[in-house]
Amino acid sequence: MNRKPLLLIDVDGPLNPYAAKAQRRPEGYTTHRMRPTGWTGAESAKPLRVWLNPDHGAELLALAEAYELVWATTWKDEANDWIAPPLGLPRLPFIDWPQMHGRAPRGTFWKTQYVLEYAGGRPFAWIDDDITDLDREYVDQRHPARALLLRVDERIGLLRADFDALAAWAA
Ligand SMILES: [Mg+2]
Repeated sequence: MNRKPLLLIDVDGPLNPYAAKAQRRPEGYTTHRMRPTGWTGAESAKPLRVWLNPDHGAELLALAEAYELVWATTWKDEANDWIAPPLGLPRLPFIDWPQMHGRAPRGTFWKTQYVLEYAGGRPFAWIDDDITDLDREYVDQRHPARALLLRVDERIGLLRADFDALAAWAA
């Protein structure tokens, strides 16, 4: 049985700082044009712009010594098709949300309830741009093991300090 903590990884915000200022590509990032199946409707004429930093793939692989990496993103399994290859990551397990953007208890982010279900009492770290103190409180009260909820700024993406914090927490 794998006793490593989980590392739950959101895409939009932490890996793709979609809200970066002035729509300009942040330093260290490369621009990708993608057509995931969820990208439909009027927007679908143009592919989705995604910024990715190849260094983040190496950082996550290094963390895979200490964690089991899992996608926790609305990209679901498509993160394996679109996001993993440019980052040099293998296919990873993913959380298959029962419902996306739906109801959530006590002001929490909609993902939080399902994150706890998926973790099943196992320690986890979670990187996401939508985490708030309400999520931390909810997890504190309901999760029996350690948990690190690391909010990442969607204008900036993951930083050196975040990878250091994740490595330190697992140790
Ligand atoms: Mg996000």
